[in-house]
Parts: sequence; structure tokens; C-alpha cells
Amino acid sequence: MHDAIPGAQGQATIAGRGVEDWLRSHPLLRELMALRETTWFNPALQPATSALAGCALGEADVDEAARRLQRFAPWVARVFPETAPRQGLIESPLRRLPAMREALRQRHGAPHHGDLWVKLDSHLPISGSIKARGGIHEVLQQAESLALAAGLLRPDDDYARLADAPARELFAAHRIAVASTGNLGLSIGIVGAALGFQVSVHMSADAREWKKRLLRERGVRVVEHAGDYGAAVREGRDEAAADPRCHFVDDENSRQLFLGYAVAARRLRDQLDEAGVRVDAEHPLWVHLPCGVGGAPGGVAFGLKLAFGDAVHCLFAEPTHSPCMLLGVYTGLHDAVSVQDFGIDNRTIADGLAVGRASALVGRTVQHLVDGYCTVDDAELLGLLALLDRSEGLRLEPSALAGFAACTRVPESARAATHLAWATGGGMVPEAEMRAYLDAANQPRPRPARAR
Ligand SMILES: *Cc1c(COP(=O)(O)O)cnc(C)c1O
Repeated sequence: MHDAIPGAQGQATIAGRGVEDWLRSHPLLRELMALRETTWFNPALQPATSALAGCALGEADVDEAARRLQRFAPWVARVFPETAPRQGLIESPLRRLPAMREALRQRHGAPHHGDLWVKLDSHLPISGSIKARGGIHEVLQQAESLALAAGLLRPDDDYARLADAPARELFAAHRIAVASTGNLGLSIGIVGAALGFQVSVHMSADAREWKKRLLRERGVRVVEHAGDYGAAVREGRDEAAADPRCHFVDDENSRQLFLGYAVAARRLRDQLDEAGVRVDAEHPLWVHLPCGVGGAPGGVAFGLKLAFGDAVHCLFAEPTHSPCMLLGVYTGLHDAVSVQDFGIDNRTIADGLAVGRASALVGRTVQHLVDGYCTVDDAELLGLLALLDRSEGLRLEPSALAGFAACTRVPESARAATHLAWATGGGMVPEAEMRAYLDAANQPRPRPARAR
């Protein structure tokens, strides 16, 4: 049933070779094209020190991002009072999930016997998704550089003054544009508008209605596109290029986004310390990250390798309909290939992961430090959504369940390790929308096809 290989629809050849030729040299493509759940461990994985030495970015860059977030903390605390308990640092809780661990064990046999933890970026303040890390960092960096250049701010000032009229007038004369499947637009729109910028968010067809409504309520210009994420990016980029006072947040190629995500890892290290969880050669940590364009999981994985070296292992998880990072790394084509080139439609319930082409920056930066990649069927994401709700009373958006699916794909040798699923979003999903996800999860469905 699942053995039919759809023909490549995008182009006759891909990087100069026909599909049949690609299938001969890269047999896993057959699984991807048939939309079967797949797990691929990276043969080019390197020890952390050499993988990191090959990256253009390093510890000093993450330090700089961490210090910037610290400088802005007084402004954040003033404008977003919900961050006051952490003095304006935008951070999420870490939680152990004994009931979900047991539920997964029953559902999948014995996937692992180490502890299962979740990093609740779904409940990050301000925008309720992992985009509150990278997206907000890039907007703050832009605001800082404008205010410094205008002489309205010195690096040792109290940044809370950026909420006052002179800075707001400066920002009001500048624009920020971004393209998004939803959550990045939400983060950038909310923070950009709070600073006083004029913000345009180019939303792909996948974006949920409530996210557009919320942004419009805050004075953000929302441009709706009929096409997918890649099409929204192209139009957003064109709009910004025409205006020298417009900064385009380029999710396909942004260093500031990447570094904002990377800061998460050192904070996680402190949280694990506090919780008494050891991470070292004898106590490895497996981190399972939902992946769209790759910026968020790539930045976090990069930070994790800096923080934990070879004691940490990262697995990226994508929808079977949008496996752009796996496709890019596996073929070595990175952003020169899209899932559509191989006849894969990029249509998934996991709107946060509905990306057909991976980031140009990320795939190359992290290709030697990510242990593996897997794909997850939409029905499985919904099933896990309901399972997490039943077992732990925790509600996430479908994209955010991909990490839990990855937990069940680890090699035998990793079963006793500590596992951490990165819950990337869902904290702001309206009740009725969540109800619809849970109802859909309870519809009888065929079991997802799994490779091997
Ligand atoms: C954006 C997003 C991701 C993945 O981040 P990328 O940078 O696109 O790889 C995962 N989950 C959710 C909920 C997201 O919004």
C-alpha cells in the first residue's frame, strides 16, 4: 500500500541527477518519498571538539547573545510583567514526566528505562513557543544597534529606558519584516510591536487563524500568502529589500536567531544541575528536538554540544510530509533541495514544522554534531498529543510532540540514558483549537507506516 513511489513533481532532475539515480545512491529516499516513518543515524557524526571546531560560530558568540538578553532583562521585565519572577529573563521550566515515560513504554514496548524530562518552551513567556528565544533575541539585537547608533543608549545604561518616548519614536521610524508558519511571526510581531517598530509578518498558508488575529490586535500588519513557507519568505525578503529602513528576519539564514536559541543550552545545564541530574560520559543525555527550517533545534543542539560535549546526543524530528533537514543532510544538498523536488507535499498538521527547504546556515553548521534524524507521521503526533494530555495533563501543539516520537527511536545503547523531549510550542493555543486536536486524536486511524 505504501510502496508506491510518487514521481518527483518539482523538476525533472535534482542537482543534475534523475530521481532513479538518487534512489540508487541514497536508498533511504525511497522511505521518505513513500512518507514512511524513518530514523537515520548520521554517519558523519564527529566528536564534539572537532564538530565544533568546524563551525563558524563559537562559545564567544553565544556569550554575546546571553549578555545581550541579560542587558535587555530590565526592559523585558518592565514591558512584559509575566517575566518579573525571573527578573526579565525569558526562560521555561524543566519537568520530569514519569507517567508519560510509562505510557510511552506501554505504547512502544520498552523504548527506554532512563528518566524522561520535558523542556517546556511551550510555556515560555511572551509568545508560548521556542521562537521566544531566537526571534526575540534578533529583534532586541536590532533595537539595540539602532539605539546605540542614534546615541539614545550606552551599553551600561538601564535598558528599561527603551520603553520611553525617545526610543519608541526612533523604532517607530523603522520596520521589521518576517515570514513565518506562525510562531516566529508571533514572537517577532509581539516584541517588535512592544518596542514600537512597524512590523510586517508574512504568513504561509499553514498559519493558524488565531495567531493572525492576535497579531492584528497588537497593530502588526499580517500579510497572508496562499503558498507555503518558502513562498512567504521570498515575498517578505523582497518587501524588505525595497526599504532601507526595514530589517528582514531571515529564518533561512540568521545568525542572531541561531545564537538566541543556543543560549537555552547553558540555562538547561543549570536547571539539570539544580534538579540533581548528572550529565557526563557515564550518564549521557539524549535531547529530542522538533525540526522545521532547523534554526531552533540547530541552535539548541549547537549550544548543547558547547555545554555538555560528547555527553549529549541530539535527535531531530520532522513530519513525514516535511523532512527537509533530513533530506538536505542525507543528500548533502542542504538548502539546494526541497522536499517538493522529491514529490513530498509539505502538508502536515504540525504547522510549526511545515517547511520544505532547510536553512542554508544550519544544516552545514550542525551536520557533524547531530546524532540522527527521524520522521513522524501526523497521526502519531496527534496520538502523542492525547497521550501526554492523559498521562501528565500537559497540552502541546502538534509540532511539539515530534520530540516525544524521537524518544522512541533511540538505539539500544541509549535506552538507559536520560531523555529530554523539547516541547517547542502550545502554551497559547486557544481552548477550542486544543479541543479539536484532542478530538482528531481520538478518531480511529490506521497505524503509521514505519520503515524496516
Ligand atoms: C518553529 C518551531 C519549531 C522548529 O523550529 P525551526 O527553527 O523552524 O526548525 C518547532 N516547533 C514549533 C512549535 C515551532 O514553532
